[in-house]
Amino acid sequence: MRHAKFLGNGRIEIGESAWPVPAAGEALLRVTACSLCGSDLRPLKNGWPVTPGHEIAGVVDQPGHRLHGRRCLVYIPVWCGHCPTCRAGHTQLCDNATELVGWQRPGGYAEALAVPEQCLLPIPDDVPNHLAPLLLDTIGTAAHGVRLSQNLVPAGRALVLGAGPIGLGALLVLQHFGYRPVEVFDPNEYRRGVAGELGGVPLEHLDASARYALVLECSGRDAARQSALEMVAARGAVVQLGEADAWHVNETKAIRRKDFYYVRSFYFPLSEYAMNIELLRADRARYERLVDAQVPLAGLQELFGQFARGERLKPQLSFAG
Ligand SMILES: [Zn+2]
Ligand SMILES: [Zn+2]
Repeated sequence: MRHAKFLGNGRIEIGESAWPVPAAGEALLRVTACSLCGSDLRPLKNGWPVTPGHEIAGVVDQPGHRLHGRRCLVYIPVWCGHCPTCRAGHTQLCDNATELVGWQRPGGYAEALAVPEQCLLPIPDDVPNHLAPLLLDTIGTAAHGVRLSQNLVPAGRALVLGAGPIGLGALLVLQHFGYRPVEVFDPNEYRRGVAGELGGVPLEHLDASARYALVLECSGRDAARQSALEMVAARGAVVQLGEADAWHVNETKAIRRKDFYYVRSFYFPLSEYAMNIELLRADRARYERLVDAQVPLAGLQELFGQFARGERLKPQLSFAG
């Protein structure tokens, strides 16, 4: 089968390899779509030992398996189901999950992959292949962070820093949960424009004196983290989504002299999947706007270039037709 090799320095080579052989408790999934993610830029830059790609939709091809022929998404933490954390329902935080699909084991920038049984999430019939991966990082991660903070700060003015895929997902989720207005800052004009189309208030510059009940930091930038901590209102919450390498924040007076909550969230528990499907159904046309390019494997390297430059929102590798 064909698969992408991430060689480093932005180079992707399409290679041939044997079809994956599922181990006991795994099933073969033929990939139909795999969405690009900002976190893939790290493997793109550094090179990666396995095939990346972790926002995967496909069709199970495992005769005799209960899901054979079914369209499924891949839940990336290989969770155990029996540790105290899994039993408490926090499957994404499993004590025994040493592997994430597309990170420590081969992912979806390939024609197929072997997927552990417990990581297959059936896709409802009314959700098309190209929208299905949005249920993972874009809706799943954003909605989980917002749900955690909703208990602390149930309403008010919200600020989203960074209008990449997670930031735009956060915008739609925040609106769904009733936060008003939702302002979105991004220096990139294209992304800012889409934030406006989706009902956000686009900001080209931040007003350092403004204060927000909720600030979602989705850019992974130090300057944005600094702003998030300073601009959250007293008794408000900062929610940190996405990832980045370094952390350099100065504890200024605007940070020190107030009470506020700091929420970090990772991915989402399986128990939220059904609710996330409802979020997609409720706002389908606007989520559709995020999928702004589909390419075959041969187009992946060029697409990553466009994505890294902020010219694409949530494009995907697609094997459909
Ligand atoms: Zn992702
Ligand atoms: Zn576990």
